[in-house]
Amino acid sequence: MSTATEQTKEIYGIENWGAGYFGVNRKGNLIVISPDNDTQTADIKEIVDDLRKRGISTPVLLRFPQLLFGQIRKLQSAFKKSIKEFEYEGDHLCVYPMKVNQNRAVVEEYLREGSRYNFGLEAGSKAELYAALGLEQSKDSLLVLNGFKDREFVKLAFAGAAAGKNVVIVIEKLSELTHTFSLLEETTKDNSDIRLPMLGVRVKLYSKGSGKWEKSGGEAAKFGLTTTEILDVIRQLQDAGRVDMLKLLHFHIGSQLTDIKRIKNAMKEAARTYAKIRQMGIDIEYLDVGGGMAVDYDGSRTSFESSANYNAREFANDVIYVIKMVCDDENVPHPTIIQESGRYLSAYHAILVTNVQDEIETVVEDLTPMEVDIDDPQVVKELADLRESINSKNYREYYHDALEHREELFTMFNLGLISLEDRGKGEVLFWDICERADQFAQQKKYVSEEFDDLRRLMCAKYLANFSVFRSMPDNWALEQLFPIIPIHKLNKKPTEYATLCDITCDSDGIVDKFVDLHDVKTVLELHKLTPGEPYYIAMMLVGAYQEVMGNNHNLFGVPHEAHIHIGDDGHIIKKVVYGATLSDSVAVARYDAVQLHDHFRRAIMQRIKNGSLSTKEGNQLIEFYENQADSYTYLAPNGS
Ligand SMILES: *Cc1c(COP(=O)(O)O)cnc(C)c1O
Repeated sequence: MSTATEQTKEIYGIENWGAGYFGVNRKGNLIVISPDNDTQTADIKEIVDDLRKRGISTPVLLRFPQLLFGQIRKLQSAFKKSIKEFEYEGDHLCVYPMKVNQNRAVVEEYLREGSRYNFGLEAGSKAELYAALGLEQSKDSLLVLNGFKDREFVKLAFAGAAAGKNVVIVIEKLSELTHTFSLLEETTKDNSDIRLPMLGVRVKLYSKGSGKWEKSGGEAAKFGLTTTEILDVIRQLQDAGRVDMLKLLHFHIGSQLTDIKRIKNAMKEAARTYAKIRQMGIDIEYLDVGGGMAVDYDGSRTSFESSANYNAREFANDVIYVIKMVCDDENVPHPTIIQESGRYLSAYHAILVTNVQDEIETVVEDLTPMEVDIDDPQVVKELADLRESINSKNYREYYHDALEHREELFTMFNLGLISLEDRGKGEVLFWDICERADQFAQQKKYVSEEFDDLRRLMCAKYLANFSVFRSMPDNWALEQLFPIIPIHKLNKKPTEYATLCDITCDSDGIVDKFVDLHDVKTVLELHKLTPGEPYYIAMMLVGAYQEVMGNNHNLFGVPHEAHIHIGDDGHIIKKVVYGATLSDSVAVARYDAVQLHDHFRRAIMQRIKNGSLSTKEGNQLIEFYENQADSYTYLAPNGS
């Protein structure tokens, strides 16, 4: 491995956030490493080139089901080890929360691997349940239902149970119990042997999570029953002679839980609640500890929002240990632990690759030194002096002077005292001073904040062919960080500092925060663009939430998708799913392509009639317009 490659690996932090799944090969390309066998790798650049030959251009979402399997096994084996180590007498099962990524490809692949360990599903809405009921789960896996439920939802749950699934209706509100009683009566009226769902209750814990989703836990949380409400549910079930249906106790204190201490506290409180209910003679079998296992997006292993200060082993150890201690102390059996981790399982498997379309021109780019004349205004001359004599000792002071002079330049221009040429000359001098000041500043051991800001102001702006709103919505909405890395040229040191602009017409459509081991970077190191040569970057770890939360801003539709298998001889493209076309995208806003075509055609016919277009020209225009219906919503990459 060349030293340049080692350096770029460090710059982008691959080994910090990559969980062992990513690397760089001899060609300097980003690779995905099979979790089963680290000699099997897939070269992302080669995949993108292959796809391009098949007419699939960037942006394209690459799915690696093997990484999903890898995460499933990591989690499963972590719990298995802890169970053994602490002599825990219960089992551990997962249910995949569909809301994290409901795509059929993801859920089916999850079930394929997860079924080996009896991993099931979690649905939080009628639509998710409707989908889940049509999927094949292993016989002993659970189907846990969270979220607010109307009678229809509960009825669907009963239908699932009757069809043989191990359905658990988690009561989030007392009205759901009323629906349950009514459906119990309805379903058992003619058939007393019919299979019934199990029930669970979601508890509102006093303990809170940490990080962005802190609000999901604690007394003011949106979900869950208070202690008195739980006792009420139990009493009502006892009165109806149905308390044996109550099998699960659930809590979920939020997503991306960054701090293991908080998790432990919640675990203690929940385990105590379980034990006390158990002591009332109610045979709760399952303690559902919710989701929330965090992904270390920036690789810093801290309690920072985009990180986590624990790994799967520590998480499993803490969960198992705390629950065992409490249960032993209270003298109740160890429950089977249900875990609803979604982000942790699915984040790694998807990568969005796109091309940098262009660089957005800024003033800073072309700083051709200008001659200063005797009759130039004083302010321009002073800027020229500063530029001449700035050095590593005075750069800070001179930079401040330059800021003042620039202010003066604009004031004079607004008062009509200087010409447009003078203003232009002054601006170029100003940015030239900034660039020099920046170079001096960056040579120092500690770079003060004002020069970091300056760097961001001066850095290149790369136009990336994607929509932040569609493909990385949490970056826009929550400032969540995702690692971003070129997929090639990683054996060459990047020489540019850049931020990314997407292709939406929204000034929020930018990425200007990047992962860093110690801080958050405001600029990303990237390579200089070579005209006529594509430059590809990858947004990593986007498999959880991003795809399904992405929206249609500016009518950019879902990107193309390719499913990749990593084998002995590199990658195999197993499946290609085409992204949204223009007609797909307008349909989202309730347009009908046929109607649009009709109107366009009519307008052209009118022009032909009044002689301003020939019939041939008119037909060509109509054909061109109608053909656009099938084209991709993103930009055609340069040089294609
Ligand atoms: C969202 C959600 C999850 C999944 O959380 P992750 O952070 O993705 O693990 C699990 N359970 C419930 C009830 C949820 O609402």
